[in-house]
Amino acid sequence: MAEPAARVIVHIDMDAFFVEVERLHDPALRGKPVVVGGDPDGRGVVAASSYEARKFGVHSAMPLRTAKRLCPQAVFVQHHRGRYSEASEEVFDILEVFAPVVQPVSIDEAYLDLTGTERLYGAPDAAVTELRAHIRRKTGLPSSAGIGGSKLVTKIASGLAKPDGQRRVRVGDERAFLAPLAISIIPGVGKVGERRLREGGVRTIGDLDRLGRPRLEAWLGESGVWLWECSQGIDEREVQPGGDPKSIGRETTFWEDTGDAEFLESTLHHLAERAASRLRRHGMRARTVNVKFRTSDFRTSTRARTLKAPSWRDADLIPAALELFRQLFHDERGGRAKVRLLGAYFSGLSREAAQMDLLEGERERREENLIRSVDAIRDRFGDGAIVVGKVIRYLEEE
Ligand SMILES: [Mg+2]
Repeated sequence: MAEPAARVIVHIDMDAFFVEVERLHDPALRGKPVVVGGDPDGRGVVAASSYEARKFGVHSAMPLRTAKRLCPQAVFVQHHRGRYSEASEEVFDILEVFAPVVQPVSIDEAYLDLTGTERLYGAPDAAVTELRAHIRRKTGLPSSAGIGGSKLVTKIASGLAKPDGQRRVRVGDERAFLAPLAISIIPGVGKVGERRLREGGVRTIGDLDRLGRPRLEAWLGESGVWLWECSQGIDEREVQPGGDPKSIGRETTFWEDTGDAEFLESTLHHLAERAASRLRRHGMRARTVNVKFRTSDFRTSTRARTLKAPSWRDADLIPAALELFRQLFHDERGGRAKVRLLGAYFSGLSREAAQMDLLEGERERREENLIRSVDAIRDRFGDGAIVVGKVIRYLEEE
């Protein structure tokens, strides 16, 4: 019987994510020690710090006052949640197009399963180099990656490759790769575990390997077995696709609040188009269209409309979003409001095809294929690459 093909797993993790997103908004922050979290004299904690600040001992969750004491020359900036989720969605859009299975771990981190994609992408090292370059081109953000046969090994490898690097651990090389590393690098060991292991003379993962499974099990029970497996690079956990989303949407925060209705409409059109493309990528239809905006006084308004039937079509979703926006904008002080955040969301998501006769089904299937190929071209060449009307005409003439 043939051996099953080795898994190809990638752990991809954005570098100093909040800091790098802030740097996109304010390029003057590049190259400087930066601490995200807010007022350094206030009571808050560090949400993120740049590598330049980490050299001084600054780290996440540390009180901001301590960070200021360690690195008084750091630039302290506010935390902007909206900016990070916006950038995160852009990154995940790229990952979802690239990999057959994507498991989000946090806002800036995911496991990818690339098993079986060699024919499409070639060797995983080159494919991941290209993926990271693509993320940087599209979003301006640096990332690091680990490539290997298990989640454990790839997570550790991406951490060691930071910043802006990648590291592959070949199947069979796991023990040698892990042996010199401190036990604290194993996700889940924690401070208590580390202390207990050190008391027993265990400092490195290689020490676990040398102790051997029977002694580790006698000493620490099930945890001992798990630690021994870690030392061998054994980790059978699969990359699990993220569950179906409850809603799919796009929003943006303006650099400057604006009351320019034409600009706002074209922005909303663009957001709705991208959200619809994402909807189709998930193979879903939406029943409800939602528009949200926040005015300069931080009041948030939303309005929703339910469609006659669930749809994945731009032609149903975008006009509904634009109509909702016009109503909302008019109702806010007769169209004189200044807007700081604008978003389009689709909810009431489903997968099942609508009931229809065979002919209608065939027509819809062809339209769906066309829209999917337009989405694929947009993903490759950017949103401006295609004028949909022209493409449709071209295909019809054939
Ligand atoms: Mg990260």
